Amino acid sequence: MARLEHDFGHAAIVILGTGALATARRIQSALPGAQVHALAGRVEADIAYSDLTGHLRDLYARNVPIIALCAAGILIRCIAPLLAHKGSEPPVLAVAEDGSAVVPLLGGLTGANVLARQLATALEVAPAITTSGELRFGTCLLNPPVGYALADLDHGKRFVSDLLAGASTRVEGEMPWLAAASLPLQADAAHAITLSPYAWQGERRQLVIHPRCVLAVLDRMDGDVVAHIQAALAAHGLAPQALAALVLPLAQACNAASAAAQALGVPLRLLDAGDVLESGTDQVIKADAAVTLHIAHGAIDIHRIGRPRGRLSVIGLGPGRADLLAPAARRALDEATDVLGYDTYVKMAGPFRADQTVHGSDNREELQRARHAFELALAGRRVVMVSSGDPGVFAMAAAVLEALDGADDVRWGGVELDIIPGISAALATAAVAGAPLGHDFCMLSLSDNLKPWAVIEQRLEHAAAADLALAFYNPISRARPWQLERALEIVRGHRRPETVVVLGRDIGRPGGTLRTLTLAELQASHVDMRTMVLIGSSMTRRFQLGHSPEWTYTPRWYPNPDA
Ligand code: SAH
Repeated sequence: MARLEHDFGHAAIVILGTGALATARRIQSALPGAQVHALAGRVEADIAYSDLTGHLRDLYARNVPIIALCAAGILIRCIAPLLAHKGSEPPVLAVAEDGSAVVPLLGGLTGANVLARQLATALEVAPAITTSGELRFGTCLLNPPVGYALADLDHGKRFVSDLLAGASTRVEGEMPWLAAASLPLQADAAHAITLSPYAWQGERRQLVIHPRCVLAVLDRMDGDVVAHIQAALAAHGLAPQALAALVLPLAQACNAASAAAQALGVPLRLLDAGDVLESGTDQVIKADAAVTLHIAHGAIDIHRIGRPRGRLSVIGLGPGRADLLAPAARRALDEATDVLGYDTYVKMAGPFRADQTVHGSDNREELQRARHAFELALAGRRVVMVSSGDPGVFAMAAAVLEALDGADDVRWGGVELDIIPGISAALATAAVAGAPLGHDFCMLSLSDNLKPWAVIEQRLEHAAAADLALAFYNPISRARPWQLERALEIVRGHRRPETVVVLGRDIGRPGGTLRTLTLAELQASHVDMRTMVLIGSSMTRRFQLGHSPEWTYTPRWYPNPDA
């Protein structure tokens, strides 16, 4: 069930060059929350993309309203292949770079014309509206504002054609947005536009619009909640579209509750102990043991009902370059209300919008930071915890899970938690060098902040003896000056002096360098805390062919030691 909402705050304003930036910013100031997406390398804005077609298709597939400052033809060609699949359709608008034309192309039912009018007003031009009902009546009857839903789209289209063919209509109920429209009104008309929470009975001359005025309130998640609620609505003649939200106690939040709300096409709202349910309720119906329906006299502002289910996404930024960041992590950052992490990484993840709160902190307070993240998520915020590389490799994901594992507050378990992987420094470095980790390898942190040095030595002994390629994270720091030399001593006890070593420093970041040398040449002074140390196995090779760069690799195969 599609929600017909006019909230364009998550719209993408897509530009190709600097020529469009000024217009894009004007549009942005009329649409707080919308971001300017610019072609990487050509112009800097809020979000960089590298491939226009792919980016537009991704936005469209994710149902993000698209305002592209380019020729309508370009936009149409990019999106055309997706149009065959019938799904929900976001508004898609082409806007002239200089702001002189606003053309809604797709998404008439998801607000394209409303958005076009809004942009046209901001740009002081006339929108290029082509929808006949809109032109005649000045509003799209089939696209009521947030808080209201149309009973039946196909029927709605027939109703509008009746009006276009000359029928007049009555208006039953308070629909303030219709006041601005120029409808063919007549008090005794056979046609009627009716506001009602009750299901449309199939009367041809009636256009029913449902106020979202019903809350389905549950004490707990039990059985088939969706079926229960649907049955409860039906038993009282209420339209499914009149449902405004699924309401549960905060302590009952879980993935199944989110899934149920999604299946019902409504938001999930959570009430903590002490939260009062203020819905302006007219009527409370105890539908069955599990479901209570609260019916208000008009559309319910769901933002006033408890809080949403909070989310904590633990993401990895990859080595640093924007195009090595997973799209899922990018999305989490775009959707975040709060961003936490070590200052350096938080900066790397930015820039952030004014409506996003950034909580930077010192690197050592990991468990504390994890707890803070859960507290924010419990309040309904969308929290992103950033790590560099992969969040599960010597980074925040384990700290977050440890905090959850040891939590006293079971409500933390109801936070939507997802861990989004990233490209770890060892892998990013290996890729630049070639494939030094092409066979079995071992990742070790040389930091003895969180484990005894004796354990590190012992693991090094075993890994070196096993002829595994080695990846050293946290190889050295000012507080740990001697450990790397000691580690190399152990490795040298098992590997030949000519063993290939790769040092990657700031890989995937500005000024990144890669250096290939031998174990004999390697000194601690070549390495700092921003360096990844890869030590080859006995099989790791380096070569150069003609004008190729020097490549390093470890073959997939291994000789039989008994042969
Ligand atoms: N979670 C991170 C690792 C954090 S430990 C990851 O998966 O990559 C921090 C160590 O990672 C640093 O001391 C350094 O050894 C390494 N590192 C992180 N980013 C790096 C980069 N861009 N280039 C080289 N090494 C890096």
